[in-house]
Amino acid sequence: MPTTSCNLATLPEIPGPSDRRIAVHITPEAERALRHGHPWLFEQAIRRQSYEGFAGDLAVVFDRKRDFLAVGLYDPHSTIRVRVLQHGKPAKIDRDWFQAKLMAAAQARAPLLDGTTTGYRLVHGENDGLPGLVVDRYEQTLVLKLYTSAWLPHLRDVLPALVEVIPTERLILRLGRAMLEQPRELYGLRDGETLCGSGPDGPMLFQENGLCFEVDPVRGQKTGFFLDQRDNRARVEKLAGDKEVLNVFAYTGGFSVYAARGGARSVVSIDLSATALEAAARNMAHNAHIPAVAAAAHETVVADAFEALVRLGETGRRFDLVIIDPPAFAQKQDQVAQALSAYERLTRLGLGVLRPGGILAQASCSSRVDAEVFFEMVHRAAAQAGRPLREIERTGHPLDHPVTFREGAYLKCLFATVP
Ligand code: SAH
Repeated sequence: MPTTSCNLATLPEIPGPSDRRIAVHITPEAERALRHGHPWLFEQAIRRQSYEGFAGDLAVVFDRKRDFLAVGLYDPHSTIRVRVLQHGKPAKIDRDWFQAKLMAAAQARAPLLDGTTTGYRLVHGENDGLPGLVVDRYEQTLVLKLYTSAWLPHLRDVLPALVEVIPTERLILRLGRAMLEQPRELYGLRDGETLCGSGPDGPMLFQENGLCFEVDPVRGQKTGFFLDQRDNRARVEKLAGDKEVLNVFAYTGGFSVYAARGGARSVVSIDLSATALEAAARNMAHNAHIPAVAAAAHETVVADAFEALVRLGETGRRFDLVIIDPPAFAQKQDQVAQALSAYERLTRLGLGVLRPGGILAQASCSSRVDAEVFFEMVHRAAAQAGRPLREIERTGHPLDHPVTFREGAYLKCLFATVP
C-alpha cells in the first residue's frame, strides 16, 4: 500500500530560508523578460540587492517604480541568480503554495493515465511553475530531481506536499551536476538517496503504452529513463513493420522495444554504455510475451556511435529505419556550432547505412539548438549527400513535458523518408 506520509525525521537538519527576503533591483531588459513571464533572472541583470543571501532564500524583484515584479528562489552559486516562483503579485511561499502547484501539475497529466502508462513526468520544472525541480513517477516510486540547492531549505514543505498529492511508496532524490559540484551545500544529502520509504533493491519495472520497462532511478541517467521520447517511440512503432531497424544512442532500448512490437524483423541497438545495453536486452525480454517482440532479432553493440556508423557503412550493412537520438551536444552557447556539426555528421552517417526508401528519425535534445535551425541542418546535410528528405513529420514535446518559455523547448525530432 502506498504510504501517505514521508518520514521527515530522516532528513538532515537543513536550515529553512531566511525570514528576511532579499530585495532585488534589475535592468530594464530583465524587467521586460520577467513581465513576459520568464522564469529566470540572471546574475548580470541585477543592479543592486539588499543583502547577500543563502541558497534558497526568497528574493523579491522590484521594477523601476519599486513595485513588486516577482518572487523567487535565490541561488548565489548559479548564474541564474533567481528562479521565479511567482510573477505579478506577492505570495506566501509555503507548503500550501507548493501543494497547489504540484496538484495543478498532477491534474495536467490526467489524460496520460489510461492504465497503460505508469511512468511519466509529474513535474517539469520551470514549465510547471517549480523552476529547477523535476519529479518523475515510475509506478509507486517518485524520483525528485533537483537542479539547484535553493530547493533544499524548502524540502520540509515540498516533500509532505508531494506525497499528499501523489501518495507513494518511495521517494528517491537525484541531484543535478551543479549541485554535486557544491558538496558543502548538500547537508549530507546524497545523489540517489531514498528519502521516503525503503529500497529499491535493484531496477524497478513500469509500463509505457503497455510495454514493460525496467528503470534504475538510483544510478540511471537523468531519473533513469528518457520519458520525453514516449510519443516518438510510439511513432517508431507504427513505422517499424517488417523493417530492419538501427537504434543509435539506444540507452536502455526504449525505441528498440517499440520497433520490435511494431513488427521489426531485427533491431540493432548501439550505445557507449554497456550497462544501458544490458538493460536494453532485459527490456526486450520483459516484453517477450508479445509475439512480435519475441520474433524480432535484437543485437546490441557497445561502441561510440560515430565510429560504429562508419564501420557499418564500410561493411555494407544496411537498414530500413534508422533512429538517432543523441545526448545534448550543446550545454553552453559556445558549443552550438560544434553541436550542429555533430548533428550534421550523424545525418550523413545515418544516411550512409539507410537503404533507398528507408526512414530516418533524428532527434535533438539541446535547448540551445533552435528547432528550425536543426531541421534545416538535417535537410541540408541530406541534400548535400544527394538524398533530399521527404518529410513525414516534425515533432516536439509530449504532454507531460510542457513548454512555457523559449529555453524550455529542447526536444525536436524529424521523421523523413529517404530516396
Ligand atoms: N534514445 C534513448 C535515450 C538516449 S540518451 C531512449 O529513448 O531511452 C543518449 C544516450 O547516448 C545515452 O545512453 C548515452 O550513453 C549515449 N551516448 C553518449 N555519447 C555516445 C557516443 N559517443 N556513442 C554512443 N552512445 C553515446
